[in-house]
Order: sequence, then C-alpha cells, then structure tokens
Amino acid sequence: MDKPKQPVICSFCGRNENEVEKIISGPGAFICDKCIHLCVSIVDKKSTSTEDDSPKDTPELKVLKPKEIKALLDLYIVGQESAKKTICVSVYNHFKRVKKIQAGEDVSFSKSNILLLGPTGSGKTLIAKTLADILSVPFTIADATTLTEAGYVGEDVENILLRLLQACDFDVQQAERGIIYVDEIDKIGKTSSNVSITRDVSGEGVQQALLKILEGTVANVPPKGGRKHPQQDYIKLNTENILFIVGGAFVNLDKIVSKRLGKGTIGFSSSNAAASNEEEKNYLLSKVEPEDLIQFGLIPEFIGRFNGIAHCAELSVDELVTILTEPKNAVISPYASIFELEGIALHFDEDALSAIAKKAKAIGTGARALRMIVEGLLLELMYEAPSDDTIAEVRVTRACVEKGARPDVIHKGVNEQDRAV
Ligand code: ADP
Repeated sequence: MDKPKQPVICSFCGRNENEVEKIISGPGAFICDKCIHLCVSIVDKKSTSTEDDSPKDTPELKVLKPKEIKALLDLYIVGQESAKKTICVSVYNHFKRVKKIQAGEDVSFSKSNILLLGPTGSGKTLIAKTLADILSVPFTIADATTLTEAGYVGEDVENILLRLLQACDFDVQQAERGIIYVDEIDKIGKTSSNVSITRDVSGEGVQQALLKILEGTVANVPPKGGRKHPQQDYIKLNTENILFIVGGAFVNLDKIVSKRLGKGTIGFSSSNAAASNEEEKNYLLSKVEPEDLIQFGLIPEFIGRFNGIAHCAELSVDELVTILTEPKNAVISPYASIFELEGIALHFDEDALSAIAKKAKAIGTGARALRMIVEGLLLELMYEAPSDDTIAEVRVTRACVEKGARPDVIHKGVNEQDRAV
C-alpha cells in the first residue's frame, strides 16, 4: 500500500518544515532547530542548578500555546477541528493559570473544565489521553455510571483521585496537575433513563459528589481504594488544579437545541438524506448552550464548572479511512508490524480501505469498529503465517471486506508480474 507522505512536523513544538530552518529526524520523531536551542538552554540551566544541593522538584509544567497543542493533537486525532481548537484554548488557559498560581501570582479567572459532547468512537477519550501525553501530566479515566454518592453500592468519587495518584506513583504534586477524563457523563442526568437501584435514583447525587472535586477541594483519598474507613490514613489531594474533561454522547440533545432555536428543519443541502441529517445534527450540537444541558438533566452548578463545551462530530467515511492509515496511532500500523516481524509485507488496496470505513460507519460505533473489522480480516492469517515462511506478502482486497474472501497471499519467489493479479 502506498502510504501518503506525512507532513514533517517538529514533535516538540508542532512547527512544520516551512516555519523553521532545519528539522532533524530520529526514530519516530522530529526536532526543529528552535527546539534544539531551547533544549540546550534548559540543559545548561539544569547543569548550573544541580550544583547546589536543593531538593529535586516535580518537573516544571510545560505550558504550550494553543497552536502548539493543536499541531501535536493533529498528529493523532483526525478531524474534530472545532473540538480541538476549543480544547486547546481551554487547556492553555488552564495550565497558564496553574503556572501563575504556582509562581504565587494572582489570577483573575477561575478554574475551567472541559465538557466534550460526541458520539461513541469519535475520539473523545483519545483527545483527553493524547493531551495528557503531550503535556506529560498524569492521566486517568473514570466511568460516571459506576460512580455513586457515599452510602450506595459502587465506587466513591475519591477512587478516581486514587487512580490518578497510582498513575504517577503517588507523587501528590504531579497528581495535583493531572488530567481526569470522566466518560458517560450524560448517563448521570437527573432525568436519565439509565437508573440503577444501587445508585441514587436520579444521578443528581453523583453530580453533587463530582462537583466538589471539580470545583477544587482538598480530598481525602483512601490509599487502598474502596470505601472510606475511619481507621484508614488518607492521602490529602488538592483538586484545584486538576483538569477534568467530561464526555458523553448526549443522545437527542440536538432535539433539545433544535426546539430552543425554534427551527423545525434547518434545511441542509445534501442530496443524501442521511448525510443531511448528520450535517443538521452537527450544526445543532455546535450551538449547545448550558440551558440545553440543564434540560438534558445536568444540574446548573455542575454545568457552571465547564467553560469549554466542545463537540466531536460523527466521523465521516473519509475520516475513517484516514484513521486506518495516517495518524501516528493508525489502526493498521500494529498489524503491519505484526506481519513485518514474520518478514511479511501487509498491503491494503485503496478500495478495501474505503470498504472497511463504510462497514464501520454502518455499525455506528465510530472508529471503534475499525479495529474489530481489521482484526477479523487478518485473524486467520495471523494464525497461519508464523508457521509458513514462504509467505512474502498479504494483500487485503475489497472482496475480503465485502464478501468475506480470504486475503491474497503472495509467496516468496513469485515475480512482480505474477503478483499484480
Ligand atoms: P470515544 O471516547 O469518543 O467513544 P475513543 O476516543 O475511545 O472514542 O475512540 C476509540 C478509538 O477509535 C481510539 O482509540 C482511536 O483508535 C480511534 N479514534 C476515534 N476517533 C478518532 C479520531 N478522531 N482520530 C483518530 N483516531 C480515532
């Protein structure tokens, strides 16, 4: 398969070839001349400062500019332009604020968290995780549906903080500037139909419990997890500077927005009814206001903690094709590596890639379905190939995806002409 040429971007600052004088490549990464100078000055500073015996601090917080964060996110996240921009601005402001507080300066704006709307498999979790990687801060994921307010069977909100601490070997200072992603936040709406008899029936209690740590509090975290127990020693963790990103699909939120806007159908032009529905839905979700979320069942105080509301759109077939091959974490990359270990080249025909994307789109779980489909196509050969050292190439065709045909296997010693069948 001919891989499209990736733009050469500095892995540190995200500048491209045209914005700098030189970019040097290393295994899986690039660095520009500007970053090299920056690194040299950091190393120089460090070597003079290590001459004294002062205690070692937690590494300095990197505050990248919105454009720099976006350039790095672009290497991993396909599409979702407006969500990425909203998030980059929120993240920049958040960490700038944290840095000022750490320097003992006054800040005039309060902590802001991020609410990410978007269907399953559109990249919400990936965005949160990638941000944490880019910024080198600890990260953890929680599922809102398993959380409870104290006194019910389930997980205490403090356990999320415990997992964040675990992610950085209980370095409290590091954890206090980490990122927590809380998934399925739409399922704890007051009016949610997803109720449980073991949880508070409305979900409002969970919102209240989350609210406390979102606002910033000194939480008592039980070091061993589980329910709080009077005899247990707690770790004190200040949540003031922890960035919370909460996400959810918010099914039918578009209808609430549409009602508020007072428009029946906005009238999108696409000749394809499904595409035009999707366009309309995306438009409506880009217009979400706090009052729509209140109507959905989130309590006003909870929504008040989120300045950034970002929307991930349902991924298009073209974007799904891109996710298969282009980002750093492209879906087919690990499979290519697995076959490469056996000395086998893995090839996907262009029309096979679009057939996979179309199939995934029809399943309706966004990019999540891609991995499952690719795995299904290659499983048999991943089983056989290690025992067959005559295989030179495995080629996935459109017929494999649409008709369940076996991928073409090209054996060693077969010349190029015979291969191009
Ligand atoms: P969500 O949290 O929205 O349900 P995820 O972020 O968990 O979805 O996505 C599942 C997987 O699908 C990711 O690990 C990634 O491989 C892929 N994926 C989803 N959206 C994107 C995207 N916009 N760009 C690149 N990969 C994506």
